[in-house]
Amino acid sequence: MAKILKDQGSHRILAIMAGLNGENPLQLIELAGKTAYQSREKIDNESAARFVQMIKNRGHKSVLEHSSMTVEFNDVSRGFTHELVRHRLAAYTQESTRYVDESDFRVVIPPDKDKDEKLVELDLVGGEKIKVSFQEWMDLNEQMYRGLRQAKWKPEDARQVLPTGIKAQIVITANFREWRHVFKLRTAPAAHWEIRRVMTNLLKDVKGRVPIIFDDL
Ligand SMILES: Cc1cc2nc3c(=O)[nH]c(=O)nc-3n(C[C@H](O)[C@H](O)[C@H](O)COP(=O)(O)OP(=O)(O)OC[C@H]3O[C@@H](n4cnc5c(N)ncnc54)[C@H](O)[C@@H]3O)c2cc1C
Repeated sequence: MAKILKDQGSHRILAIMAGLNGENPLQLIELAGKTAYQSREKIDNESAARFVQMIKNRGHKSVLEHSSMTVEFNDVSRGFTHELVRHRLAAYTQESTRYVDESDFRVVIPPDKDKDEKLVELDLVGGEKIKVSFQEWMDLNEQMYRGLRQAKWKPEDARQVLPTGIKAQIVITANFREWRHVFKLRTAPAAHWEIRRVMTNLLKDVKGRVPIIFDDL
């Protein structure tokens, strides 16, 4: 039976870039940024937050590119990853439907939908009609995919019957400036519910770990 995932999409922060000498991300940005003013001698324990705030206020966004973050997303749909990879200033590695067997059929459903509601009438061969639910349609889809695999179709061929909602995993690395851009677009009301929910949770997490940079979002 296909496993239906509701509100399961999650993130795991794999890395936040800091300095080799123990500088946190703000201190790294400060160290790099103060190259411009040749003012590293003014660095003290409190100066990084002040410096980064000043850089942000003045719109010198390129300085924020000196630190970056790597994040893994789990139990999101292929639709989610397709939207994410439109952001070009980032590196990605995602689960391959060419090489990975997807017989462990897991599908993301919209949070406000009932997987068991019999909504859609199908015409069967012979004229009979049946009403099926999302769950039942995904069960049929799963049978089709597994059948093609048993008939020796490779995953890269059998994937043609996979739904956009099929579960995917993706890892992204981007600098903080690009992350700000991604958060602005993908947590906005116009964003799709799936990416919006996952990105909002990630943004809350990042704000707790890295001050100043994302505070205004
Ligand atoms: C709500 C929503 C609905 C959408 N609907 C659709 C849709 O219907 N169809 C569709 O095809 N897409 C759609 N998209 C995707 C959208 O068009 C962008 O491809 C995606 O949001 C990536 O954003 P971006 O190009 O600003 O930024 P990124 O690729 O993340 O780049 C960041 C910034 O870098 C700069 N940049 C990057 N590359 C270049 C370049 N080559 N030249 C100049 N500047 C560059 C730009 O300032 C850009 O804003 C949608 C996005 C959202 C958020």
